Amino acid sequence: MPVTAPPVETAWLLHHVVGFDELRAFCWHRQDPLPLHATRECLDTLIQMFGWAFSPENTYAGYVRPDPHPITGPFHYGELTVESLPVDHGSVETIGYLFSHPGAPETAYLPDLKRLPPATAARLATIAIQAF
Ligand SMILES: [Zn+2]
Repeated sequence: MPVTAPPVETAWLLHHVVGFDELRAFCWHRQDPLPLHATRECLDTLIQMFGWAFSPENTYAGYVRPDPHPITGPFHYGELTVESLPVDHGSVETIGYLFSHPGAPETAYLPDLKRLPPATAARLATIAIQAF
């Protein structure tokens, strides 16, 4: 039985760019550009590595056609607010995300870090943290 990837409405990157090609699996039948949220540094690296994808000449069906959104502050999807949180990873700028929705507990997703900077730890102080 063939497996079909679910539709993806947007992609939010942390810092890694090597998974960019894997987004193609979610764009086979997509007509519109894929909103891609990331830091300016991450987007610049992606543009350098995958320039073909960002080119206006990228009209190939099934290829990722990113609609880059540099993160400059909290952004919204309907009532969902997404806030980037800087984390210490190593030599590159890395972020996690904090999701806020009316009536729901705030949820943080910080999958790739070595340490929490004090400002990020303070922002997370009111959240019940679970580590897996
Ligand atoms: Zn990493």
